[in-house]
Amino acid sequence: MSLFENTLKQIEKAASIMKLDENVKRILSVPQREVEVNLPVKMDDGSLKIFKGFRVQHNNAAGPYKGGIRYHQQVDMGEVKALSAWMTIKCSVVGIPLGGGKGGIIVDPKQLSLGELERLTRAYVRAIEPVIGPETDVPAPDVNTNSQIMDWFADEYSKIRGKDLRGVVTGKSLEAGGSKGRNNATAQGGVYVLEEYAKTVSLNPKETKVIIQGFGNAGGVVAKLLSKAGYEIVGVSDSQGGIFCSQGLNVDELTSCKVEKKSVVNCGGATCKKVSNEELLEQECDILVLAALENQVSAKNAGNIKAKVILELANGPVMPEADEILDKKGIIAIPDILANAGGVTVSYFEMLQNADGKYWSEEEVNPKLKDIMVSAWEEVSANSKKYNCNLRDAAFITSLLRLEQKIREKGLI
Ligand code: GLU
Repeated sequence: MSLFENTLKQIEKAASIMKLDENVKRILSVPQREVEVNLPVKMDDGSLKIFKGFRVQHNNAAGPYKGGIRYHQQVDMGEVKALSAWMTIKCSVVGIPLGGGKGGIIVDPKQLSLGELERLTRAYVRAIEPVIGPETDVPAPDVNTNSQIMDWFADEYSKIRGKDLRGVVTGKSLEAGGSKGRNNATAQGGVYVLEEYAKTVSLNPKETKVIIQGFGNAGGVVAKLLSKAGYEIVGVSDSQGGIFCSQGLNVDELTSCKVEKKSVVNCGGATCKKVSNEELLEQECDILVLAALENQVSAKNAGNIKAKVILELANGPVMPEADEILDKKGIIAIPDILANAGGVTVSYFEMLQNADGKYWSEEEVNPKLKDIMVSAWEEVSANSKKYNCNLRDAAFITSLLRLEQKIREKGLI
């Protein structure tokens, strides 16, 4: 089953609970535009390689298409379609005036030199340039992409158009017009939501054990934020595997160790045991943060999860078939479209700052982010009570109610 079918199932489920207009559902069940490109890149050894890339523009009823670009060897059109639809839904959960898009290139960036990575990025920009722009479609970082890649992106696009159009992409470095707080935003937004949840169950961070799958853009930062807030981090993983340390982990040491030794599996010391990514999810803990890739919790392993709460910082980490099992076990999943919306929210702030050339301090960014995340949490929890459904369905309902209105205002139904 393709990932996009998972997304459709989630929409379908919420739509039937809230009785969404059938035509709105039909509109949201197909992307507005799917672009596939082939990118010739000169490699350092003089050879030429052709890479395949995608950009999917799912829906722009609420505003310009918005969403990251993923560099991964397993990217395919079905995945990018799913991720683009989740962006439409996500932006609408938090009520920012943006639509949904997503891009990707089939590549393992760890196999490329910096020069090759730059040439690949610039080739991708040239290929999708006709369909993107600061007011039409604004990419951003996602798995394996970062501010350096976004800076090349902004530079190439501005060169082609012959003027400074850095607002074509977000997640840039501060020097190139990025927003303060953008690097931490996905994790920070998730922490704001988790704190709201924590209030409802009087959770004490000092007595709360956390496992984090993924130690990249979102997972690495959430580890820092949660350990600073007093939570005990007992397990982490990256693409190479994981470690479980019942005595707890020192996150600062782990962060420098990962830089030095390339993977968290080479860190942690004698009190930690090495585990696979699959095993990590089933270890003893209170909160499981999923900050890696999609489809990590399925019908096969959902029954073995011991956490009481799952915080979804990745996109699509829990499959629809697993939701029912988690519900039965009383495990609360704080869904991706709410939990990880902090990233795109600060991307929106970056677009605003680029448009008027005035830049905000981190002290301005974070309270604005917090306001948006907390209101979205309140709306989603209220809908969960009103419609008597789990938080995922409630987040979809919150989003679809707004989208239905936007689509109606546009006269599309
Ligand atoms: N890639 C991030 C996400 O999946 C951020 C997207 C953006 O900032 O546009 O939400």
